[in-house]
Amino acid sequence: MRHIIETGTDGATLCFFDPAALLADFDERMADDPVSAFEELQKEGRFWWDSTGGDGAYLFHFYVDADMPEEIRRHSHDPLEMARLAVPSGTIWACGASQDFSSPATSRPSRRGRVGRREIPALAALVLTLSVCPSLAAKGASSSAPFVAQQAQQAQAQKVTKYTLPPDSYKKARDLSRIRFAGTMIGFFYGLAVLWLILRWKLSAKYRTWAETAFSRRFLQAIVFAPPLILTIDILELPLAAAQNWILRTYGISVQGWGSWFWDWTKGEIISIIISTILVWILYAAIRKAPRRWWFYFWVAALPIGLLVFFLNPLIIDPLFHKFEPLAKKDAPLTASLEAIVQRAGENIPPERMFWMGAAEKTTALNAYVTGFGASKRIVVWDTTIAKMNTPQIVFVGGHEMGHYALRHIPKGLAFGAAFLFVFFYLGFRSIGSVLARWGGNWGVHGVDDWASLPALVLLLSVFFALALPVFNAYSRHYEHQADQYALEVTHGLTPDSGQAGAQTFQILGEVNLSDPEPNPVAVFLYYDHPAIPDRIQFCLTYDPWSKGQPPEFVK
Ligand SMILES: [Zn+2]
Repeated sequence: MRHIIETGTDGATLCFFDPAALLADFDERMADDPVSAFEELQKEGRFWWDSTGGDGAYLFHFYVDADMPEEIRRHSHDPLEMARLAVPSGTIWACGASQDFSSPATSRPSRRGRVGRREIPALAALVLTLSVCPSLAAKGASSSAPFVAQQAQQAQAQKVTKYTLPPDSYKKARDLSRIRFAGTMIGFFYGLAVLWLILRWKLSAKYRTWAETAFSRRFLQAIVFAPPLILTIDILELPLAAAQNWILRTYGISVQGWGSWFWDWTKGEIISIIISTILVWILYAAIRKAPRRWWFYFWVAALPIGLLVFFLNPLIIDPLFHKFEPLAKKDAPLTASLEAIVQRAGENIPPERMFWMGAAEKTTALNAYVTGFGASKRIVVWDTTIAKMNTPQIVFVGGHEMGHYALRHIPKGLAFGAAFLFVFFYLGFRSIGSVLARWGGNWGVHGVDDWASLPALVLLLSVFFALALPVFNAYSRHYEHQADQYALEVTHGLTPDSGQAGAQTFQILGEVNLSDPEPNPVAVFLYYDHPAIPDRIQFCLTYDPWSKGQPPEFVK
């Protein structure tokens, strides 16, 4: 549902906030230093103020739980003065658009989008105070906030009975789904072709010769050999990666500029080259030392490295690509709501382990996830999710992530992956000999212990991995389903009609991410790592052990 409040002002200061999003010590801070208190609140997205010009040529637009339309965004006199507040009751966009009086229609939202007369008072009480004195306005309106917030939440959430999309989104979602299917197939075979071409063009043999000519120490050879090989593979695959971003941009899911996209690619390359070079060095050391058991020794050595990378990922690697902040700092009320369900589940997930991630500069997609290991374990909620969902819906998302956490999906998933790697490495050992016997001569590869055999090994592992992918994905879908069930159980009784809140969550997720309403079962089998959205909604609407007098499975 879309609410728009439009107001013209002349020589006034507008301030704009959700009373519930202000700090508990707001009064004290205001007494000390109101200006810096406001600036701080504004930085945290809890409060927004701005003075209007004296010429009257301004219109202010406020969008509550609706995206700011592009035609308004374009006319905004200063992008910095657009503000987005993620408040307990949803999202508020504020925008000062300067009005061009010669063509007034250009910066106005459509009539259809305006809020009805009846709805204005509650919304105005919630979000909007127009005043020449910000501090008075801010102090004035705090007591009735929770009640108003609840009303607004109920008003904005539409009852979901099944996953449906409006006609234009439906077409987009169907098209995108077909493109994804084709893209996944093309991507797999293209990847194999790249590796095969590298062998065929004897590039791998060439890099091996460089390495062996330059150094006699094996580690230094690895440093000369591995980086150009990895770079060659990834540059040859770059067109496909770019095509993917191009499609996501075309469908409005990616909003990342090409410069930023390429910089991310570069950072990814640097990380991949560092980790891979170490692994390649260990692999060939194992092959030379133990020609018949190297696959096992390499597996043993790769596990702690894999764990270390998984541990460091949220601490070092993720922050290279996105901004992370403690969720408590970005959205204290949401953190409090999440803590309520954590307590209810008898889990121990302190607020320090809940993070906000700034995804909006790169994508419109919604997400939340759990990651890390030991001291780096955490729940991450994207800002896009916070912006698009109301509290019961985000709490449902939090419940889902908590399910992964409480049901120990991370250690189980790591163990599952390790078991598969064990089998893959063994199969690689068993098959690489015959592959090299047959084509090694054409590729200039002298044997398994030759650095140049690496692309052939990677090619074999890619095939094994692709063959096992449906098994991985079935396993992942099972865990995701369990986490959905956990979310329904843990929010039951805390959220009025938790099943409906869950269904609304997936409806919003599906709409924004353009999830296919009728996914091809073959696509689901091959590469869906989450259950399809229509199934998740159906499950939310039908899972109800309570009415049958049965105990819930996970949250007693
Ligand atoms: Zn999940």
